[in-house]
Amino acid sequence: MTILITGGAGFIGGHTVLALIDRGEIPIVLDDLSTGNRAAVPSGVPFFAGDIGDTELVLRLIQNHRIDAIVHFAAKIVVPESVADPLNYYLNNTVKTHTLLQAAVRGNVKHFVFSSTAAVYGNPSSTPVSETADPAPLSPYGRSKLMSEYMLVDASAAYDLRYVTLRYFNVAGADPARRLGQSTPGATHLIKVALETALRRRSYMNIYGSDYPTPDGTCVRDYVHVSDLARSHLAALDHLRDGGESRTLNCGYGRGYSVRQVVDAVRRVAGVDFEIRQAPRRAGDPASIVANSDELMKLGWEPELNDLPTMIEHALEWEKKLTAVT
Ligand code: UDP
Repeated sequence: MTILITGGAGFIGGHTVLALIDRGEIPIVLDDLSTGNRAAVPSGVPFFAGDIGDTELVLRLIQNHRIDAIVHFAAKIVVPESVADPLNYYLNNTVKTHTLLQAAVRGNVKHFVFSSTAAVYGNPSSTPVSETADPAPLSPYGRSKLMSEYMLVDASAAYDLRYVTLRYFNVAGADPARRLGQSTPGATHLIKVALETALRRRSYMNIYGSDYPTPDGTCVRDYVHVSDLARSHLAALDHLRDGGESRTLNCGYGRGYSVRQVVDAVRRVAGVDFEIRQAPRRAGDPASIVANSDELMKLGWEPELNDLPTMIEHALEWEKKLTAVT
């Protein structure tokens, strides 16, 4: 049976495609290439350029490829962009997830794995945060994902569909075998920005906010290696195939680093200094968020690359490769 990967030409989707083929699964990719990269999809994996909101296309793929599971990555993911253009986020992340889900139900797909985010928690009252905490997203991005989570809960109660929602914490790193990394032009994520600065593709970088209620005043995040995160989707699929009930699960390491700590680690790993500028807080940023992922580990997920310098090293290797070809 075949697995439909939406957004499989993107950073997390692409690494999950690698994890799937590494263990002999058969994925096909649907991606509109708005931020994804065709070259991220390995040769031999069927690729379809198109929109997850195109019901006829999705239904045709489900039928022609005998899809029995959908892993849904395709989304917009930049918090400040969602604050500036919320309706675009609700369209891409919520409305189109509805359309995709409807196609899944009509096409009789029984298993659905959904990419959600720690942004659904907002500023949790206790940290590490577990899945039982009340969601309170601070951004349209977080709300657009939370609304999709609710749709999945209701759809699985009503139809013959089970799901695993994975709430990703901060995803970083690159494939240790150097096949793939973060290639999105104009990326805004911290480790990517810091590495681009270390490699002199930016002359300086900003640190957004220095007055958060954290030990050094900068935001604290739980950075998870993309290849470990990719493997969490295998655990989710195995759980669903074994008849497991629908679940919503955190995916992070349970250890937080401040923005300053990350920047210092990038300087150390890259072996270069670079300019940082203190900038105002960025809209929609929670102060501190760290995962309790005990429930995901009970499903068989085991972190293998949970070391910040290793994550940065892998991402640096990929950035150097990108620099070499551009
Ligand atoms: N950040 C920063 N400078 C940058 C990019 C990010 O100071 O150039 C901070 C950002 O304000 C947040 C943290 O790094 O506190 C992680 O942001 P990122 O965009 O990587 O992920 P998010 O947590 O928003 O999903």
